[in-house]
Amino acid sequence: MTTTDPAESVVTEPLEDEASILDSSDPLRSHRDAFVGAETSLVYFDGNSLGRPLRASVERLAAFARDEWGGRLIRGWDESWMQLPFEIGDAVGRTAIGAAPGQTVIGDSTTVLLYKLVRAAFDAAVAADPARVEIVVDRDNFPTDRYLVEGIAAERGGRVRWVDVDLAGGVSASALSEAVGPETAVVLLSHVAYRSGYLTDAATLTRIAHDAGALIVWDLCHSAGSVPVEADAWDFDVAVGCTYKYLNGGPGSPAFAYVASRLQDRLAQPIQGWMGTADVFAMGPSYRPADGMRRFLSGTPPIVGMLAMQDTLALLEEVGIDAVRAKSIALTEFAVRVADQLLAPLGVTVASPRDPAERGGHVTLSHPSMRRVTARLWTQDVIPDYRDPGGLRIGLSPLSTSFAETLAGLRAVEAAVRAES
Ligand SMILES: *Cc1c(COP(=O)(O)O)cnc(C)c1O
Repeated sequence: MTTTDPAESVVTEPLEDEASILDSSDPLRSHRDAFVGAETSLVYFDGNSLGRPLRASVERLAAFARDEWGGRLIRGWDESWMQLPFEIGDAVGRTAIGAAPGQTVIGDSTTVLLYKLVRAAFDAAVAADPARVEIVVDRDNFPTDRYLVEGIAAERGGRVRWVDVDLAGGVSASALSEAVGPETAVVLLSHVAYRSGYLTDAATLTRIAHDAGALIVWDLCHSAGSVPVEADAWDFDVAVGCTYKYLNGGPGSPAFAYVASRLQDRLAQPIQGWMGTADVFAMGPSYRPADGMRRFLSGTPPIVGMLAMQDTLALLEEVGIDAVRAKSIALTEFAVRVADQLLAPLGVTVASPRDPAERGGHVTLSHPSMRRVTARLWTQDVIPDYRDPGGLRIGLSPLSTSFAETLAGLRAVEAAVRAES
């Protein structure tokens, strides 16, 4: 596959040429330089687990500590911090999840927000119809989603109804149709499957849940900032998503919650803290939930954790989620093509959907040696992650990943699979 150009006496590889053409025609290419570490040769394939920081965030964090925390001290709450969860929530709504203002807030971790909102949705569904005692969730949903649903069912006298799925795929319309019915209270699904990258048809699945009379909670952890979401247009009830993945909020940055306006005053969340009350500083004798999204907060908002995500949200606002998705598709298409060419001969298979319309922002490559391959790659500054059984996840965060980086990483995977097989 090697061709020599006699005029320049250089060896060119067709795949390297292709990567370089794709990079030079990529309208988002200049944004990669805005990330810390872009100048190094490190290959980062895990922006879907922990996004790289933007350089602007380094400055923002330092300035915050110095000027706002250090300078304004407790006055900062009145001056700006109390409103920040709502302002940033609205920015998430506007730029990433298709939500009109007043329906999205930055709160606790994804796990805690999902717990609060799945439980609130379950209680609301049971209050409306006591026959609805089931929470529908798939067996390959992210562990925290499965575990918290088991806890809520046990706590509230409900039942979990498990949907079986193909590990290289996800929840289809027909699988969900079979699982829901007159006993369904709530459905909890991931929009993009964390293992396979399967992208569900969220509008259709929402309609299926609604037609069965159930509420649906969407986990947007692997979609926010990578895949367009239209929470309002697709008639979502509730959604929760991570901000430290494609939104580059930093390790443990707090999650966002979306609750459709029409449902907000019907949902009562279980962690009744002072920050969720109507008049926070009235310090009243008992809990009275605020109107609107404030009622889903519990304690003091984690302000430091919500600083960095603002830089990615500003960038998303500038470039638009559709451009991000177009690059994401181009990156995953390229990765699949390279894997077919370099890795399939070694027995590596693609454990993600091949149709880009059914695939989110990562590609999972499967081979029995992948656990050892991952460990070897990390020592070489090539950083994918590993998920059982035998899955190497290639996360291609569109704003911070180039085609050349993708190819260099996959060539390293090829060498590592050879070495470990
Ligand atoms: C990453 C991820 C989570 C993580 O939840 P945390 O509370 O932030 O640890 C939850 N659900 C899905 C689908 C994820 O991908």
